[in-house]
Amino acid sequence: MIEFSHIYKSYDNRYILRDLNFKVNRGEFIFITGPSGAGKTTTLKLLIALEKPSHGAIKFMDRELGSLKPREIPFLRRRIGFVFQDFKLLPNRTVFQNVALGLQVSGIFGSVINKNVTDILKAVELYIKRDEYPCNLSGGEQQRVAIARALVLNPQVLLADEPTGNLDEDTSNIVIDTIKNFNKKGTTVLFATHDRGLLNQGRSRIIDITKT
Ligand code: ADP
Repeated sequence: MIEFSHIYKSYDNRYILRDLNFKVNRGEFIFITGPSGAGKTTTLKLLIALEKPSHGAIKFMDRELGSLKPREIPFLRRRIGFVFQDFKLLPNRTVFQNVALGLQVSGIFGSVINKNVTDILKAVELYIKRDEYPCNLSGGEQQRVAIARALVLNPQVLLADEPTGNLDEDTSNIVIDTIKNFNKKGTTVLFATHDRGLLNQGRSRIIDITKT
């Protein structure tokens, strides 16, 4: 489903990624790891064409990203949800409105929005908080809203960039369980983290970008 072949990426003549090669199959849960500054965020940004590789090719669902026309990029991004370490929720919108925004900008209206947002908020167990503002939620709850927002368009892939980096251990585990539940239902997950504690639990495949 995803293939990075001989990817190099430099910023200001300094190579961050050198000959990065990996494949991800549909439905997998993968940790992308490496120390801080190793290029994990850059790797995820390459996959949604927010950055371009200096050399090499990236394939997503049999399309080479380098061959996409600018007007095709929004369709690529609709297939890939993104979750950030710092949640990036809009503070002046409610939980429901934050999640609905992705559907509204895609031109979906009314009752469909209502149903999809309701369903996804129930899946992350936050429907009860739908009218709250982000500042009234805990960090773990805010991250689950961000996961709902990333997945409300039902993308094939979820990219999570250090999603538990600001959370304590118990809250992290709830967020990881939430992501794993979506993975069990078919969403492919790439989870970037430098936290070795997380990598040691479970049996997920680990791609260390400093070693591929
Ligand atoms: P990680 O997510 O593993 O911490 P990043 O991908 O964020 O690493 O960054 C890797 C390196 O690339 C860092 O040294 C960072 O400063 C540098 N970098 C990232 N984005 C840019 C940019 N737009 N311009 C210049 N340097 C950048």
